[in-house]
Amino acid sequence: MTIHEKAMAKEPTFRESVDLMFNRAVALMDLPPGLEEKIRVCNATYTVRFGVRLRGQITTFTGYRSVHSDHMEPVKGGIRFATGVNQDEVEALAALMTYKCALVEAPFGGSKGGLCLDPREYDEAEMELITRRFAYELAKRDMINPAQNVPAPDMGTGEREMAWIADQYARMNTTDINAKACVTGKPLNSGGISGRVEATGRGVQYALKEFFRHPEDVKKAGMSGTLEGKRIVVQGLGNVGYHAAKFLHEEDGAVIVGIIERDGGLWADEGLNIDAVHDWIMRHGGVAGFPEGTHIDQGALLFEDECDILIPAAIEGVINLTNADKIKAKLIIEAANGPVTYGADEILRKKGVVIIPDMYANAGGVTVSYFEWVKNLSHIRFGRMQRRQEEARHQLVVDELDRIVAAVPGNMSLSPGFKDKYLRGADELELVRSGLDDTMRIAYQSMREVWHERPEVEDLRVAAYLVAIDRVAASYRAKGL
Ligand code: NAD
Repeated sequence: MTIHEKAMAKEPTFRESVDLMFNRAVALMDLPPGLEEKIRVCNATYTVRFGVRLRGQITTFTGYRSVHSDHMEPVKGGIRFATGVNQDEVEALAALMTYKCALVEAPFGGSKGGLCLDPREYDEAEMELITRRFAYELAKRDMINPAQNVPAPDMGTGEREMAWIADQYARMNTTDINAKACVTGKPLNSGGISGRVEATGRGVQYALKEFFRHPEDVKKAGMSGTLEGKRIVVQGLGNVGYHAAKFLHEEDGAVIVGIIERDGGLWADEGLNIDAVHDWIMRHGGVAGFPEGTHIDQGALLFEDECDILIPAAIEGVINLTNADKIKAKLIIEAANGPVTYGADEILRKKGVVIIPDMYANAGGVTVSYFEWVKNLSHIRFGRMQRRQEEARHQLVVDELDRIVAAVPGNMSLSPGFKDKYLRGADELELVRSGLDDTMRIAYQSMREVWHERPEVEDLRVAAYLVAIDRVAASYRAKGL
């Protein structure tokens, strides 16, 4: 057993960790007897084992779909393809989905699914067979259904898998006019929405921007100023980590000094070129051999290096009892689900490290999934009806301004670029970004209000749980439970 494994053996499992965090929050609430337990427990977990004929023989796969809470339907949550998938993990992730949806006011219950396999071991045709069979098993029990259970991408899955799932459901439900709404995160040409691929990473960026809009909060983390020049270490340059790192560097001037991947880590004091590293990973399967920066084999050690912000964006449990007290970052934003264990959370809190919790930090994905689901049910692209009408109304204002400017003596004119910017009506991508930005700002404000106004609330995680549990409880109460 390695030191890491020994320490982890002493730590609660992922699901226990989520429950312990939940318990910390409910201890500060006054919920009616029984309701607390009803909210905490996972309603149901379906385990399925199915065979697929591959390479001349039958291979058996194990998959899960867990429904944590159906106080609102459909329930929502990603499908993960990874070797570590197990019931405990799926249930923990489903619980987080319940709280996440409540926190960002997405009208869903919480669910999650997973298939135990390493997608890198199969070619595209094999992955399609496996994914379609898994989708078939779930859909026939209404665990994929536009009105009841709507999956999305997670680790190891993306647009490609979501398109197969949507098509599989449509084949099994040929008269369902809302079939496309059975899953989100689809490619644009299969009923997807602009901006979904980068939504979770974009949400991480919006979350950090909102945090830095509050100097009081920035001060609590022992920092000052803006994101410009802040030194960041990212773990996992996949969908979430890549987009978050890219936007934070390109648009906010943050410096990505460290990247941790499966096969090691990269460090460059002057900052790494995110697109170049991502491209390298895509071509070589890891960061080893990347020509810039310094490579180390034990990538996770970079968590302990000098930086301002850590963005764990890979798997759960990576900041744990083995490394929590060695962390020097002042702020951790949990882009992944459950990257900080319960024990590590306690140590970091005592050290004064501020943690922006997963249930908020990575909610960009489910937020844009919500927009995609609404788009599928309304059967029309966002902005299609209003865009040109908006432009026509703006044209009226610009014409009037031109007339006034021309009538005023002297050399007055409108600023360069004003007309073009003002005239253009919002397209779907702009509307999605605006909706996501609004959601991330409002959710942060609801957490920080509790954090600042209630002295017994030490951290943003408990604040997030309080806001979320309160909303779930209200929903149960309204149903008479
Ligand atoms: P992904 O498969 O696209 O990327 C994961 C990345 O992490 C890959 O680059 C992989 O090589 C790396 N990685 C895996 N194990 C690692 C390890 N032990 N050490 C270092 N790097 C490792 O997955 P993703 O969709 O980006 O998801 C990442 C996390 O974000 C997960 O916790 C997931 O639940 C969470 N999340 C994802 C979404 C989404 O929309 N995709 C939404 C919410 C939350």
